[in-house]
Amino acid sequence: MKKTLITGAAGFLGSHLCDRFIAEGHHVIAMDNLITGDLKNIEHLFPLENFEFHHHDVSTFVHLGGELDYILHFASPASPIDYLKIPIETLKVGSLGTLNLLGLAKEKKARILVASTSEVYGDPLVHPQNEDYYGNVSPIGPRGVYDEAKRFMESITMAYHRHHGLDTRIVRIFNTYGSRMRLNDGRVVPAFMGQALRGEDLTVFGDGSQTRSFTYIDDQIEGIYRLLMSDYVEPINIGNPDETTILEFAQEIIKLTGTDQKIVYRPLPQDDPLQRQPDISRAKEVLGWEPQVHRSEGLKKAYDYFKSLSPEELSGNHRNFSAIK
Ligand code: NAD
Ligand code: UDP
Repeated sequence: MKKTLITGAAGFLGSHLCDRFIAEGHHVIAMDNLITGDLKNIEHLFPLENFEFHHHDVSTFVHLGGELDYILHFASPASPIDYLKIPIETLKVGSLGTLNLLGLAKEKKARILVASTSEVYGDPLVHPQNEDYYGNVSPIGPRGVYDEAKRFMESITMAYHRHHGLDTRIVRIFNTYGSRMRLNDGRVVPAFMGQALRGEDLTVFGDGSQTRSFTYIDDQIEGIYRLLMSDYVEPINIGNPDETTILEFAQEIIKLTGTDQKIVYRPLPQDDPLQRQPDISRAKEVLGWEPQVHRSEGLKKAYDYFKSLSPEELSGNHRNFSAIK
């Protein structure tokens, strides 16, 4: 049985990865310090014999006994609200956390995949973004704590590959949404859906002309799985090229949820990228991957999930959602 360590396992992407690797028959070692995650996302896996959970901060030394085949490093605050609240922890997990996990991979002779992001392209001057674009990132701006940590993550991962011959993979993840996102993490999908469900107006930042391209969780997990199992070492974009403005997106959510709330405008956060769309030619060619779930279908599934939450969870006051208030 393959043994796989998943960091950030109690978070949105990490918990779905745990499900996938359990379904593939792996023994999954889930690791998380619960700073933005929630044990509720993985509690259904606790009774399984091939699942174990380690409450640990990966920015400190990571020790595991026995053999290990794969490491997926997904621990990191991921929403602008989260990483602005905990900037130093964000820098540490992208840098020291990655260093610790690369060291562990070297020790165990394990293959490691690290979760990078479209944020390495910053506020892009090239559109759509392909993997050869170096990006337009402010190192000292508020988002720099996340963007530069991820750029360092890519850099040190390639160094371990070139210098130590480590078996590495780098995925550049574009905005992904689905069940288990924290309602109060500030990202636009839970923000708009939470507002619609609570009967609040939808907050569009700026004039809403900035664009994003949203990927449904199942498509993202499939892309990550294929990349891990491939022999491709350079970074690969995984995202859905179906681009929309945030204003159109708010209108789409209003239609989907049937809310009679209005759109209200709030200031655009500093360095908020004005456009974002992945060029997925490489993923298509190397992995034979492209998204299968249309936004209308994915949003409906995500809405069904958010609708199923208790009023306490919806209000954002549930104990499981209060880790970094
Ligand atoms: P999330 O906040 O839901 O999950 C992150 C998890 O990491 C949480 O459970 C948190 O408690 C854990 N964590 C944070 N710091 C830790 C530490 N020092 N030690 C142990 N655990 C720690 O976020 P997510 O959306 O699931 O993102 C997961 C990964 O994917 C992140 O690395 C993020 O940068 C990357 N990513 C996500 C998206 C997206 O759209 N969801 C886009 C680009 C990149
Ligand atoms: N956004 C918005 N209203 C909100 C939350 C986000 O208009 O309540 C915008 C935000 O300014 C950005 C886009 O939606 O342009 C996506 O934001 P998110 O935080 O989800 O991700 P990121 O900016 O990291 O792509």
